[in-house]
Amino acid sequence: MSMDEFAIIKHVFRPLAGNDTPAMNLENDTAIWHPPLGHDLVMTKDVMVEGVHFLPNEDAGVIAQRLLRVNLSDLAASGAKPQGYLLGFIGKAKVEEKWLMAFAAGLARDQEEFHISLFGGDTVSGSQSLALSLTAIGSVPTGQAMTRGGAKPGDHVFVSGTIGDGYLGLQSLLGNSARDDDAIRSYQLPEPRLRLGLELRGLASASIDVSDGLLADMHHICEASRVGGAINLDEVPLSPSGKKYACENMAQLLRLATSGDDYELLFTVPEKKAARVHEIAAKVGLSLTRIGEITGGSKFSVFGSDGKEIDVSMHGYRHLNR
Ligand code: ADP
Ligand code: MG
Repeated sequence: MSMDEFAIIKHVFRPLAGNDTPAMNLENDTAIWHPPLGHDLVMTKDVMVEGVHFLPNEDAGVIAQRLLRVNLSDLAASGAKPQGYLLGFIGKAKVEEKWLMAFAAGLARDQEEFHISLFGGDTVSGSQSLALSLTAIGSVPTGQAMTRGGAKPGDHVFVSGTIGDGYLGLQSLLGNSARDDDAIRSYQLPEPRLRLGLELRGLASASIDVSDGLLADMHHICEASRVGGAINLDEVPLSPSGKKYACENMAQLLRLATSGDDYELLFTVPEKKAARVHEIAAKVGLSLTRIGEITGGSKFSVFGSDGKEIDVSMHGYRHLNR
């Protein structure tokens, strides 16, 4: 059975809006939210298109959760606490009720996990392909949001968790490699590092979530901070799946460091405060690995296991057109 736009809003999205919330039962033109006193609003949007950002046969609930989580990951990088979200739903001519219910159930699961609710959105149908747009809204004490700018020469560069699992999960899902459930989970349901983001406020000089690829995102920090940087590929933390994949040669390790979809936090910390990072790792229960440093000038260098600099452009790494 397919549903029209009004039925979708009433039966699918309204239950996600909660009671006594900014959404006002989705009966109003707008949501009205009072940000906590003394806080800045932090906003971010990601768009996902069927066939481009998710596979047509992927589970609807998982698509919903990934859509939400990639946005929460951006909030985490800013050190923000998530509050709510707006949803743009661009459906095909016939939107199946069963698919919609599974999609909403995925959102409901993560709303509970991350203590947020649906503030509002817009719904249209008749599109050639399904497209989803989500705007996440968070808050941070005034002036304390972290950005990509702010890294200084001498700062240490850290990354959370492990790198490359999103790529390995997608390859596994596409049938290009053997089934790897851990990696598939990393790709489908990334963990936004929200607790880490809160802990890094006042400590990290710059922060970004790894969505484009570790090297590209490091490059983003360097550009925004107007500094140079160096990464030791040998130090990049890998999961058991990643180690197995990259055991043979540098090109494979480089692929993991350039593929993206990791949703880990990459951040810089002044040398004097770097010891604090280990305390935070223990507190949030997440490995935080030092993988490089910030330098003066504007050069971005990548070093291999033998300590030799790698010409990353030789390995298909192009930051400019990513
Ligand atoms: P308009 O005619 O102004 O576009 P709509 O009829 O689309 O208004 O929306 C009515 C209400 O339903 C609004 O509160 C809007 O935020 C909410 N809404 C519409 N689509 C969605 C959606 N996909 N997710 C959440 N809320 C939605
Ligand atoms: Mg209106």
